[in-house]
Amino acid sequence: MIKEEINLISDTITRPTKEMLAFMMKAEVGDDVFNSDPTVIELQQKISSLFGMEAALFFPSGTMANQTAIKLHTQPAEQLICDKWSHVYNYESGGASFHSGVSCKLIDGNRGMFKSNQLKEVINDPKQYYLPLSSLVVVENTTNKGGGACWDYAELGKIQRICAENGLSYHLDGARLFNALVAKNQTPAQYGKLFDSISICLSKGLGAPIGSLLLSSEENIQKAIRIRKLFGGGMRQVGYLAAAGIYALDHHVDRLSEDHHRATSLGEALKKSDWVAKVEPVETNIIIFQLHKELDEMLFLSELEKHRIRIISMGEGKLRIVTHLDFTDAMLEKVVHVLEHMPI
Ligand SMILES: *Cc1c(COP(=O)(O)O)cnc(C)c1O
Repeated sequence: MIKEEINLISDTITRPTKEMLAFMMKAEVGDDVFNSDPTVIELQQKISSLFGMEAALFFPSGTMANQTAIKLHTQPAEQLICDKWSHVYNYESGGASFHSGVSCKLIDGNRGMFKSNQLKEVINDPKQYYLPLSSLVVVENTTNKGGGACWDYAELGKIQRICAENGLSYHLDGARLFNALVAKNQTPAQYGKLFDSISICLSKGLGAPIGSLLLSSEENIQKAIRIRKLFGGGMRQVGYLAAAGIYALDHHVDRLSEDHHRATSLGEALKKSDWVAKVEPVETNIIIFQLHKELDEMLFLSELEKHRIRIISMGEGKLRIVTHLDFTDAMLEKVVHVLEHMPI
């Protein structure tokens, strides 16, 4: 039986594999502030050709990539439109209002996703000069707070048309886009043609220690270089980290389906547990569930802790499990066993 800790609080907890580390150590590097790190350039070109977009830029975090996109697409006093559960609104420390001076119009969606009709209703008429000018729509795929849910591609296309008709920019927070691509059998190019900009995290399911990318037009990426520097995100010999991203794109994309299968198995085990009242649909690598009201969440977490299994509370009675690269079949077996035998 597994003795080591099984950490399921997030897919960001993974450590680089031996092979990834070896690949990182061999990277050729230069000063990326002078645009002369060949490995960073290679990563940026690799991802932009994958998505069929003109250019890409390497960032230390997904938050900085998203915040840069918001700044690119908006002017102070304007408004961005997103789901009420979106990362840009909830988990980026209020950056949209601080860095870009914009407000957020929140749509009351389902599991972090909204319908194109809901978008139509909240776009402000630019002739009504006293209303904030709507200028950007942000969607998230997969949704984080929504439990790894995947958008319907046709709906994303409808939203693109509404954005085009109303002169709005369209940004995808694709921190876990590769999970959606694998789950839905879609291609990066399908997304590249829908959005004005896309952010991608390398440090989540893909298992790199750090790093995100922003994809957009050549013109936008030129502007984004300045914004990244303004935010303090210009980096020097960062090719070692970009190499991890190259390795991840080559070796850790297809295997995401394993994380999804293990998440599905955990979802099934939770449904059978006497503790659990409800499990949200499991589409990718995130499982969100609720205990029966009369049961103590802390007790459930501490029962798991006894077996060195860690999961996280999302508040409002919701618990979250995330599967990832460092979560093996042997660990899955143990977690299922523990869930099946947990005394109530
Ligand atoms: C993790 C995440 C980000 C970026 O997070 P960082 O920790 O800043 O890299 C952005 N959007 C979503 C949906 C995320 O889950």
